Amino acid sequence: MALLSSSLDCARDWGECLLNLAFPWPESAEADPVRIEKPYCQQCGEPFPAMEKQSHDFLCYNCVDQKWYFQWARAGYRTEGQVLEAVIGFKYRDEYYQLGRLTEWLVETFDQHCAQEKWDALVPVPLFHRRRRERGFNQAYELASGLGKARKITTWDCLYRYRETQSQARLERITRWENMKGAFKMKAGFDVRGKNLLIVDDVLTTGATVNACAQALTQAGAGRLAVLTIARS
Ligand SMILES: [Zn+2]
Repeated sequence: MALLSSSLDCARDWGECLLNLAFPWPESAEADPVRIEKPYCQQCGEPFPAMEKQSHDFLCYNCVDQKWYFQWARAGYRTEGQVLEAVIGFKYRDEYYQLGRLTEWLVETFDQHCAQEKWDALVPVPLFHRRRRERGFNQAYELASGLGKARKITTWDCLYRYRETQSQARLERITRWENMKGAFKMKAGFDVRGKNLLIVDDVLTTGATVNACAQALTQAGAGRLAVLTIARS
């Protein structure tokens, strides 16, 4: 049954990929990256472009009751145009060369939001081992390593996916949170107690995945936790 489910997941991933190849991005694919500017939620970073620019911080409706295990999440760009194309190409179309500009966007976002603080390490969101084997790499690890080299911060690949989760892209919002509960655990040999850690991923959607990572790190005694992604939807 597990094998069947894995095969179905794999087939769906290929389906998404083939669909993208058959219907290349519409004219918006080459649209310039759209930066996320204030106003955005001080906790999850969700932008509210329709709001007037304001000086005081605020929480969005999702964050008022949400239990977050990280202090804040920031993303540099909207998941659209060139950014979306590069992310999809990197993950699903074998376009490893996209790593260069994705890393540039991530470093730029780090400089904008995180450079004022001291980080003990960057922690990439891990892939389940089967998915990592299929893809050949973990995009979050590649991105974190590139950022780490650029800004002289060590990368700790200290988490692993304890159980396989369904692709978040295919789930409703509530189910995404259920899907990720307890999905991550600490690897042996890492001591994160009291450390200030920046969790790194390519895209943030609901935040369920990075929150599950932050929960595992919190349970292991980590100090301050924050999240950095290139983009968010
Ligand atoms: Zn929020």
